[in-house]
Amino acid sequence: QRARFPIAKRALPAPRGVSQPTTQRIRRVEPCTSYGVEAPMATAIGIDLGTTNSCVAIARRGRVEVLENKYGEPISASVVHFGDGGASLVGNQAKALAVQDPEYTITAAKRLMGRYFFSEEVKKAKAVCSYKIVEGPNHSVRVKVHEQALAVPEISALVLREMKEIAEAKLDQPVSQAVITVPAYFNDNQRQATRDAGRIAGLEVLRLLNEPTAAALAYGFGKGLAQRVAVYDLGGGTFDISILEIGSDVFEVLSTCGDTYLGGEDFDDRVIDLLAEEFQAQHQINLRKDRFALEKLKAAAESAKKSLSVDDEARIQIPDVATTPAGATLSLDRTLTRAEFAALVSDLIQRTFKVCDEALQQANLTVRDLDGVILVGGPTRLPLVREAVEQYFQREPKTDVDPDQVVAMGAAIHAAARQGAGS
Ligand code: AMP
Repeated sequence: QRARFPIAKRALPAPRGVSQPTTQRIRRVEPCTSYGVEAPMATAIGIDLGTTNSCVAIARRGRVEVLENKYGEPISASVVHFGDGGASLVGNQAKALAVQDPEYTITAAKRLMGRYFFSEEVKKAKAVCSYKIVEGPNHSVRVKVHEQALAVPEISALVLREMKEIAEAKLDQPVSQAVITVPAYFNDNQRQATRDAGRIAGLEVLRLLNEPTAAALAYGFGKGLAQRVAVYDLGGGTFDISILEIGSDVFEVLSTCGDTYLGGEDFDDRVIDLLAEEFQAQHQINLRKDRFALEKLKAAAESAKKSLSVDDEARIQIPDVATTPAGATLSLDRTLTRAEFAALVSDLIQRTFKVCDEALQQANLTVRDLDGVILVGGPTRLPLVREAVEQYFQREPKTDVDPDQVVAMGAAIHAAARQGAGS
């Protein structure tokens, strides 16, 4: 069931006669720190338009800043909720409605970007999505919300517009230009759909930058030495590994492989399964059948997982999660240790390394040929993941830039460099 997108070194399989770019030739990128205080205020932003979450950043006055939304959160869910009147809510508030109103809460639209209706990827999305995916003109994909059939770029545009508005509110000035990141494996159709989304959102897209390239830029690669780095990107719902060759002014993707259905949400599901099974064994009540109980389980499982990236154990407490036939209320209270969590998810982490094997093989390299490993994505905060990555790559991965924000920061650096170069 899992989608694989093995992409060959340099010459990628060309879908429907379209060539797929792997070489991201970028103009000489000026080090961000070279901007002086007198430099004109940069207004071009960098946007990481993710499957699960999105993030917006700006590089100015020698600093890269992630711009927080009005709730003070640096990342926002890439989720759009459509209310009865068609009004849309975007971000973490929309994500909170996913269980309550699944049919009109659009998650992971990025998986559908630039895809054909009859493609394997869309079939898989139809099987797991709670919203309606229908066929549009020329075998394109539409999402049915109330009476409308929306094109996928129109949905992603709402996420991008939210990012634009976050930036405008934070910077107190209009923003019209952006660098938007895309997975290295995106083909021409998917890239064009992302450009369209930017345009619909009222943004001039200065460039679509490969996500691993952005991560490498945020770590300051590309300033001198020729190096090879692996970018290990474990997100909420997808895993990507890319091997980059970095020269003084050229970033080349040697290979990129991934699994479009493997990420932190699978970790949450394992915890949910454990909690639901234990509860059923104890009380003969299936919490999964109750929409509201399931919503609480999901939130509790994700929060426990996040705690385990800093603490040795996480207390999971859900008061009044169910009611017995006799009318008594039941609560859930359990402590989850790191060891228990490791037993639940180790096989998922090991699966990422099979994909890494493939990427290295396609680049004709071994782990010893690499000069560094960069971590991207929320789940890479888990010590369990970091230790496994260190063991596989035989070196300590780079973790000093926030893995949720590193891609947006790289995009912002590139946006500022382009503006500075007057391009
Ligand atoms: P991303 O797509 O990179 O934003 O990653 C989103 C995923 O990261 C979600 O599954 C989150 O639950 C997960 N995540 C965020 N923060 C942490 C953390 N501190 N520890 C573990 N997982 C996290």
